[in-house]
Amino acid sequence: MDFEPTDDQTRIRRVAREFAEGELGDKIAPYDERHEFPHAIVKKLGPLGFLGVLVPEAYGGAGLDHVSYALIVEELCRGDASVGITMWAHNSLCANHIASFASEAQKRRYLPRLASGEVLGAWGLTEPGSGSDAAALRTRAELSGDEWILNGSKAFITNASVCGTAVIMARTGPEKGSKGVSAFILEKGVPGFSAGSPYRKLGLHASDTAELILEDARVPAAGLLGERGAGFAQAVQVLEGGRIAMAAMAVGIAQAAVDQSVKYMKQRTAFGRTLAEFNGLQGMIADLATEVEVARLLTLRAAYAKDAGRPAMHVAAMAKLFASETAMKAATQAVQIHGGAGYITEFPVERIFRDAKLTEIGEGTSEIQRLVIAREILQLS
Ligand SMILES: Cc1cc2nc3c(=O)[nH]c(=O)nc-3n(C[C@H](O)[C@H](O)[C@H](O)COP(=O)(O)OP(=O)(O)OC[C@H]3O[C@@H](n4cnc5c(N)ncnc54)[C@H](O)[C@@H]3O)c2cc1C
Repeated sequence: MDFEPTDDQTRIRRVAREFAEGELGDKIAPYDERHEFPHAIVKKLGPLGFLGVLVPEAYGGAGLDHVSYALIVEELCRGDASVGITMWAHNSLCANHIASFASEAQKRRYLPRLASGEVLGAWGLTEPGSGSDAAALRTRAELSGDEWILNGSKAFITNASVCGTAVIMARTGPEKGSKGVSAFILEKGVPGFSAGSPYRKLGLHASDTAELILEDARVPAAGLLGERGAGFAQAVQVLEGGRIAMAAMAVGIAQAAVDQSVKYMKQRTAFGRTLAEFNGLQGMIADLATEVEVARLLTLRAAYAKDAGRPAMHVAAMAKLFASETAMKAATQAVQIHGGAGYITEFPVERIFRDAKLTEIGEGTSEIQRLVIAREILQLS
């Protein structure tokens, strides 16, 4: 068993780390404070290949493996999780759905522009009335001549108001549940397709999350992504990869919490000693560092299973569950280690603490991950 990344993976991680250290960190704080999307910073991800990580080279992407991808997501989220989620929602959800299931003509039309960063991608499954129970979605698509007409809305969509391309799941048949769901590719600018105002969120203030609204939005028949009725099965596959990305995001956030704690423990003094000399805090940081390493190994194992073409659903769920709960724990303890300084916006742990919570909710909550894992262990359908 080889735990070492390859030379290429090591190089890619270094590029991501250098980008995060140079372009994120302190530079992102003002965007977070203003709840502003960092267009200029996100634009820089394109030339690095980070907006087409999983897109094959034939369509302008970097064509990298999932292990490399997880390393990039971790490093970006270590620098800033808002930029991280912007990047991975674009890659894992929108671009990867198209790369995995679209026709050749659709791939040629959409992937090069997504991979270069000319347009950002969004992916709409969740609705105001359905999240965990995603198959209960109500957005409808009806065929009229050679066009589909879509009506409904999608809630909590990352990149909704900054995207140029979106993949939308909608009901196309009378069948109940997952069977009657199809996927569509929509372009911004299509009449009847718009985004609501970005939500004011607990964390990830520099990421864009908004509703997507479909009011008689017309999509040519060629906008159907894959087979009619296959949209939900496709979405489940897309979520498998998305959960690995969310796990990597959580590892990055958790690592940032540890980094900040180590830095603070070495500089802050109390009772004539640095915090680093207190046994209680040493135990805390040792436990955290260990748990982050476990989360990283689980995440890379899930990514490796995906690269090997093995079923990765339950290992992805385990990685996502453990990594997200580790991120929340690490962020909480990092604030504790900082004392009062952890509660004010001057120190990054306040932002890290707010950002961490999303990892326990997005791409399926912790309760849903436990359900997926239990079903696999108990061999339930
Ligand atoms: C910042 C952000 C970005 C997001 N980005 C996207 C995106 O790009 N695209 C997209 O489609 N969605 C996105 N989402 C939506 C996200 O995936 C959902 O919020 C998530 O799946 C939970 O769904 P819900 O909010 O409807 O919660 P609900 O499903 O209403 O869950 C409420 C509570 O009930 C629990 N629960 C529900 N069912 C069960 C069960 N069977 N057993 C035990 N407990 C259960 C949940 O765990 C949770 O605690 C995003 C959300 C946020 C906050």
